[in-house]
Amino acid sequence: METPITFLGCEAGNRIYVKHEEFFPFSLGGSKARIAAPYFEEIEAGGYDCAVTYGGVRSNLCRVVAAMAAVRGLKCVAVMHGEDDPGSLNLRMVRSSGASVVFCPAQRAAATISDTLAALREKDCRPFFIPGGGQGVTGTHAYVGCFEEIEAYMRRTGVPFRFIFLPSGTGTAQSGLVCGKLLSGASCEIVGISIAREAERGRDAVLRSVGGYFAAKGAVPAEGAAERAVIFEDAYNGGGYGRGDYTETVARVYRRYAVPLDNTYTGKAFYGMLEYLKQRRIAGESVLFVNTGGVPLFFEDLPLDRRKEGSAPCEAL
Ligand SMILES: *Cc1c(COP(=O)(O)O)cnc(C)c1O
Repeated sequence: METPITFLGCEAGNRIYVKHEEFFPFSLGGSKARIAAPYFEEIEAGGYDCAVTYGGVRSNLCRVVAAMAAVRGLKCVAVMHGEDDPGSLNLRMVRSSGASVVFCPAQRAAATISDTLAALREKDCRPFFIPGGGQGVTGTHAYVGCFEEIEAYMRRTGVPFRFIFLPSGTGTAQSGLVCGKLLSGASCEIVGISIAREAERGRDAVLRSVGGYFAAKGAVPAEGAAERAVIFEDAYNGGGYGRGDYTETVARVYRRYAVPLDNTYTGKAFYGMLEYLKQRRIAGESVLFVNTGGVPLFFEDLPLDRRKEGSAPCEAL
């Protein structure tokens, strides 16, 4: 299912466009909806009856997996690191979908997942596990599809994207875009703005996913091509996952363009993109920002106190 690309406006001296993954038409969208969809094709083809997945208590992946299981009449268990949080809209949606939730400390994740799978098998279920972030060949493939949509847009409109920016966490989405670029020979630069990891670890993860995808296809990229194509920028990660305050960027982008971003992923990456362009004196280019957001985190991060967020024009009346 294709998501639209629209022209946003001029920012940091460049023409910025947005690939609206937040409109991916399932459960308020986001990159995780695109990534989870092909896993459910495997679940159906393999006759599994329960989807198990893993994420934080605010996980977009858990939300969409729970919803995809529910609409198919499958059971779902979401293993989440952290503690129950009634403020998490994604978690509330997981529960609305009827999924079971198992909480564990992050260090106990692997053990909790394998215990959960074992307990389900004991009850004669056939569980299918979707890894955190949707990482794997299937997840990467979903974003090869996203790259193909971007390429088709460039062909159709003649807009040449010199840069494609996106928030990068596990690197699943980025690896798919990079594979798409390598397979098509496109010349745009794909820049993953780290939302958590430091450069070396983040880049290695993207490269591993790229390698895994090519291996699964029985293909090899040209010598050094994958290494050259993976740009993983950690200068704007705010000191780690969930750290840093991007509410100003989120509020400004919403007020100016009515595009919803969040504080954890897309707001951080949008801010990082503008800094990256400014610091490298990149100007006059057409630049695509992939809004990986699911909409719930936008609402969750929306300030409750209206005085905090630029209500000055009305107060002046
Ligand atoms: C998971 C997620 C990301 C990170 O994507 P990866 O494929 O893990 O790199 C970015 N943005 C949003 C909104 C996400 O939910």
